[in-house]
Amino acid sequence: MYDYVIIGSGIIGTLIARELSKYEVSLLVLEKENDIANHQTTANSAIIHSGHDPKENTLKAKLCVLGNRLYDALETELSIPLLRTGAFVVAHDAEEENMLNLLMQRALVNGVKDVEILSGDDARKLEPKLASTVTKVLSLPSTKVTYPWEVAIAALGNAIKNGAHFRRNSHVVDIVYHQDFYTLMLEDGQSFESKHIINAAGVLSDHVARMLERDFELTIRPRKGEYFVLDRQAKGWFNHVIYPLPTKAGKGVLIVPQVHGNILLGPTSSETTDPSDAATTKSGMTYIKEHLKALSHHIPYDMIIRTFAGVRASSDYEDFYIKESHRYPGFYHVAGIDSPGLTAAPAIAQYLIQEIMKLNVPLKKDFDPIRIKPMPFHHLPEAEKEQRVKENPAYGHIVCKCEKITEQEIIDAITGPTGNDTIKGIKKRARAGSGLCQGGYCEGRVMKIISKVTGKPLSEIQYYAQDTPIFVKETKKA
Ligand SMILES: Cc1cc2nc3c(=O)[nH]c(=O)nc-3n(C[C@H](O)[C@H](O)[C@H](O)COP(=O)(O)OP(=O)(O)OC[C@H]3O[C@@H](n4cnc5c(N)ncnc54)[C@H](O)[C@@H]3O)c2cc1C
Repeated sequence: MYDYVIIGSGIIGTLIARELSKYEVSLLVLEKENDIANHQTTANSAIIHSGHDPKENTLKAKLCVLGNRLYDALETELSIPLLRTGAFVVAHDAEEENMLNLLMQRALVNGVKDVEILSGDDARKLEPKLASTVTKVLSLPSTKVTYPWEVAIAALGNAIKNGAHFRRNSHVVDIVYHQDFYTLMLEDGQSFESKHIINAAGVLSDHVARMLERDFELTIRPRKGEYFVLDRQAKGWFNHVIYPLPTKAGKGVLIVPQVHGNILLGPTSSETTDPSDAATTKSGMTYIKEHLKALSHHIPYDMIIRTFAGVRASSDYEDFYIKESHRYPGFYHVAGIDSPGLTAAPAIAQYLIQEIMKLNVPLKKDFDPIRIKPMPFHHLPEAEKEQRVKENPAYGHIVCKCEKITEQEIIDAITGPTGNDTIKGIKKRARAGSGLCQGGYCEGRVMKIISKVTGKPLSEIQYYAQDTPIFVKETKKA
C-alpha cells in the first residue's frame, strides 16, 4: 500500500513527485506511455512566461508568476537549462498600444517585475529583424525558456533518488474506492493500492476523474498547437521571445528562441476532438506564416527542419483546477492544466501539497535536492576527452554527427535511472537526432545500440509510443 499514487508523468506529475519526495511518504508514479513526458510536456513552446497574460486573481496568474521564480531554484538544484531571453509583446497602432497599456497594468497586478513599454525603434535596436510596422512593445525581462522534457526527467530522477517509485507502460483504467484506501487497476490486469491518488493525467484528467466521479465538474476541450522548428543555424535571428497581443484563443503565433539554438515558430490554436492528435496540417502551416508577418518581415523559412504539434488540456473551467474531490477524500485533481502549466508546474506542486492537501508529515532529514547533469562529451576540454576515450572507446565513436553525440552518451541515456529505450526517448535525453538531418544519419545506429544494450531484436524497438516499430520483420540476415 502506497501513501500516494500519482497518475501521469508529465511536468505536473513529475514535479509533484519531487515535491512529495521531500516528505516521509511512500509514493508511486504510474505512466501509461513507455516514457516520461510524451504528451503536452514534450510538445509546447518551452516558455517560462512572466505572467503578463493570465486574468488577474486567478490561479493561473498567481502560480505562473511564482513558478517563473521557482525555475531559478530548479536550475541550480536539477541542472536544467534556462535561457533568459526576456520577451516583447508587440503593438502596431494606437488601438493596439492601448491594449498593450492594459496588458502592462495586468502584468503589474499579477506581480510581474521590471515591465516597461519601449518604442518600436528602441525595440528594433535590440531585435533588428522586428517588423518595421511595430510601433510599441511591452518588454517582459523575466521571460525565459527551458527544455521541458529534461525538467520532467530531471525532476522524476531526483524523486526516485529520494525514494519515489516509477512504472511506465502502466495505464490506469479503473479506480475502486474502499473508505480509507483506493485500488488502481491497470490495463494489463495488475493493481496497486494507495491511501491517496493525485490525478495529473493532462488532457485525460477529466477522463481519470470520471473513473470515480461520474459528474466531475470540468470537461477538457483539447486545443491543438502546430509549429515549425528552425535549425540551430538560425540562432541569434531573434534573441527575445516575440508575442503578438493575446486574444481569447491564446497567446497567438510566437517567435521563440530555444535553449539549444533552434527557433520555434507557432503555435496555432484549434479545437480538436482527439486528445492524441499530433498531426501537422497544411492549413496550420499557412496560418503560422500569415500571422508571423505582423512580427517580422524576414523569416528564414529555408532553415525549417521539422514541424510538430501538441494538444493543450484546455477546459470549460477556464482556470487551473486543483482541488480535492468533493466526494472521495484523498483523491486530488490537478486538471485542465493548459498554458501556462509548464511555467506554473513547480508552484502547482507546492500549492497542491501545502494549500490543498495541507500535508502534515515530517520532512525527510536526508532529502537530496541535487541532480548532477553529466557535461555533454563535446563540451569537455580536449585533455579530458582524450582521457575518456582512452578509458572507454565508446566515447570515441560519434553516433549523431549533427549534435556530436557519442555511443557512450547513448548507452547512458538507455541505462540511466530514468533511462529509455525508444528512439525518441534517446533523442529527449541525449539529443541524438535533434540536428539538421533529424536522425537521417543516426537513427539506424541508435537502434543498433539499443538492441545491443537491451538484447531486444530490432523489430521490437519502438520509435516513440507503444506499437510504433520502425522495422516490422527481418527480410534477410546481416
Ligand atoms: C501547443 C502547446 C504550447 C504550450 N506552450 C506552453 C508554454 O510555452 N509555456 C507554458 O508554461 N505552458 C505551455 N503549454 C502548457 C504546458 O505544456 C502544459 O500545461 C503542461 O505540459 C501540462 O503538463 P501535464 O503534466 O499536466 O500534462 P502531460 O504532459 O500531458 O502529462 C500527462 C501524462 O498523464 C499520462 N496519463 C494520462 N492518462 C493516464 C492514465 N489513465 N494512466 C497513466 N497515465 C496517464 C499521459 O500519458 C501523460 O504522460 C503549452 C501546451 C501546448 C500543448
